[in-house]
Amino acid sequence: MQRIAVIGGGITGITSAYALAKRGFDVTVFEKHRYAAMETSFANGGQLSASNAEVWNHWPTVIKGLRWMLKSDAPLLVNPRPSWHKLSWFAEFIAAIPRYADNTTETTRLAIAAREHLFQWAKDEQIDFDLKQKGILHIYRDKAGYDHAAKVSQLLSKGGLERRAVTPDEMRAIEPTLAGSYHGGFYTESDATGDIHKYTNGLAQAAAKRGVTLNYGHQINDIGADESGAWVSATVDSETIRQSFDSVVVCAGIGSRAIAAKLGDRVNIYPVKGYSITVQLDDDASQQAAPTVSLLDDETKLVTSRLGHDRFRVAGTAEFNGSNRDIRNDRIRPLVRWVEECFPGVSTRRVVPWAGLRPMLPNMLPKVGPGKLPTVFYNTGHGHLGWTLSAITAELLADAVQEQGAASEVVTAARST
Ligand SMILES: Cc1cc2nc3c(=O)[nH]c(=O)nc-3n(C[C@H](O)[C@H](O)[C@H](O)COP(=O)(O)OP(=O)(O)OC[C@H]3O[C@@H](n4cnc5c(N)ncnc54)[C@H](O)[C@@H]3O)c2cc1C
Repeated sequence: MQRIAVIGGGITGITSAYALAKRGFDVTVFEKHRYAAMETSFANGGQLSASNAEVWNHWPTVIKGLRWMLKSDAPLLVNPRPSWHKLSWFAEFIAAIPRYADNTTETTRLAIAAREHLFQWAKDEQIDFDLKQKGILHIYRDKAGYDHAAKVSQLLSKGGLERRAVTPDEMRAIEPTLAGSYHGGFYTESDATGDIHKYTNGLAQAAAKRGVTLNYGHQINDIGADESGAWVSATVDSETIRQSFDSVVVCAGIGSRAIAAKLGDRVNIYPVKGYSITVQLDDDASQQAAPTVSLLDDETKLVTSRLGHDRFRVAGTAEFNGSNRDIRNDRIRPLVRWVEECFPGVSTRRVVPWAGLRPMLPNMLPKVGPGKLPTVFYNTGHGHLGWTLSAITAELLADAVQEQGAASEVVTAARST
């Protein structure tokens, strides 16, 4: 049986491990934290959103971003201090603009394909992750934003997604708790929400039952590979261990870039910081006043999800400021204010803030498949859509590992004849 090391126990590492184990591979996950999903897969926006598949490589988005840079409470913040990493990332981001339409359509296809696996695995393994299948409503305050969304709908439709325009009256019927006046919206009935942390931990337990070894508390400090195999060196309880495998799969979120460099590959992931608040709906009135349909406010770039009865998650903002994880009050405040304006009946007395780093590649598509060496694979760089895409990229990764295994068996058989 082929032995595979998976680096990283976030949503991409655990879905990869699960998909590989289902195909009969002997899988070991290495995760530096004591539990799964403690970094970017901890408290994200919760949206399983094919309707948010539009990539950001678009001139109007760049121009809007430049204007936002002058406002302290804008959804985008870029630390102006130059670094080679940031400059090279932005250069490649601009270079990907001609692929805007194709990459948006491709992301839509992937997001739709992901649903079937993600829901099936949850059903098979009885994972409770506060799944809500009530659709996602995109809301627009002005005509310009609404008209742009109508164009995006055409690209999403090319990728197979049905999303319909709705009037302000229809918006109120879909989500009666939403306050404010709007130009219109777009509603995607087939989208859903759920708690990424609960799902990842549930699937990790299921993977363990299928024979996956979960090495928590193992920090990978060195790694190497050649044509015939791979090895990892990990620090655990201040001791160093070294293990050999047939192949390695890198799913290390923002850590993937440095690990890839050791393996001879360039994976130009930049950590794009975002924030969330989880509003604790402690009283009956707040529970009634909070939405159950998920929202995406395109102007403020905020997404929401109702997690169970008593939690309301709001997430957003994009900060290019290296791997800094500080939770800044001036970035959290606009999220709280947004809740107070859109849902005035919700108490914001108890709000849990969080910051996470999206592992983002410049063309906004994840890297899935082999690296330069036949023993090295990647499933990483999912940016703002890792929760949405993880189940399908895990399947694609497992396809790639399986194909490589079959190819090397053919080579070995040919050599021995
Ligand atoms: C504010 C915010 C809101 C978001 N909202 C949504 C949303 O609504 N819908 C959506 O689809 N996506 C959303 N995302 C994106 C999504 O959360 C991410 O794409 C996804 O969680 C990335 O998962 P990952 O497994 O690649 O990375 P991670 O979850 O960060 O996992 C990587 C793991 O690798 C481990 N690791 C790294 N280096 C090492 C090492 N050397 N040794 C051992 N372990 C190591 C880390 O400890 C970590 O646990 C959001 C992100 C943010 C920040």
